[in-house]
Amino acid sequence: MEETAARTSNPRVLVVEDEPDIAALIAYQLTREGFRVETASDGEEGLTAVNREIPDLVVLDRMLPGLTGDEVLRSLRSEAATQGLPVLVLTARREQEDRIEGLELGADDYLTKPFSPRELVLRVRSILRRAEGTGSEAGGRVLKAGTLALDVTSHEVRMGGEQLNLTPTEFRLLQTLLERRGRTQSRRQLLERAWDVESDVAERIQTRTVDMHIRRLRSKLGELGDAIETVRGFGYRLRMPEGDR
Ligand code: CA
Repeated sequence: MEETAARTSNPRVLVVEDEPDIAALIAYQLTREGFRVETASDGEEGLTAVNREIPDLVVLDRMLPGLTGDEVLRSLRSEAATQGLPVLVLTARREQEDRIEGLELGADDYLTKPFSPRELVLRVRSILRRAEGTGSEAGGRVLKAGTLALDVTSHEVRMGGEQLNLTPTEFRLLQTLLERRGRTQSRRQLLERAWDVESDVAERIQTRTVDMHIRRLRSKLGELGDAIETVRGFGYRLRMPEGDR
């Protein structure tokens, strides 16, 4: 068995999937890669498991008996404790519309069935990397813009003193925009930087994904959300707030 970096921290992954074969395959692959895995066979069982102990990441099937995956995701995103919980959604449906709708609900990433177990592990690692930060930025570096303060080390974001619950993806996106404040970033640049994915994975993530996450980030930032400007045909830019240097 391969010893992996994941083994040192052994992140906990909850797999919510009603198809036993697929659940077993995912659990096998993730366990083999050093993750601790718990499985739930429907949405309610999944929510119960999350409430018992919040995992580091949830792999959530979209088509579930009873509560659908979308309903589970909506429920997770509506609770303060799980608003920022990393979620990878599995979908059997290929329609673009569904994909976009799901991203609007705040999934961090998507995998369409059938997928390779290897691909699943890559995606899980990528999301967790975003959640953990790069680890090379010690020293409590805080990025500020107006009343907004993002602590790169503790992963806390405060706006006017109040804490914001961002998903790992939203956090990295905001961090990237803050670091490159005033400069236009293309969707491709944002994908590579904020998603921090291997180039082969980046190829499979659509730039439309960036738009969905920007939309959610803007809404969480409230009035400050307007500072994230759309640069037509290129991407996005964080405007320098009034009074900032
Ligand atoms: Ca299913």
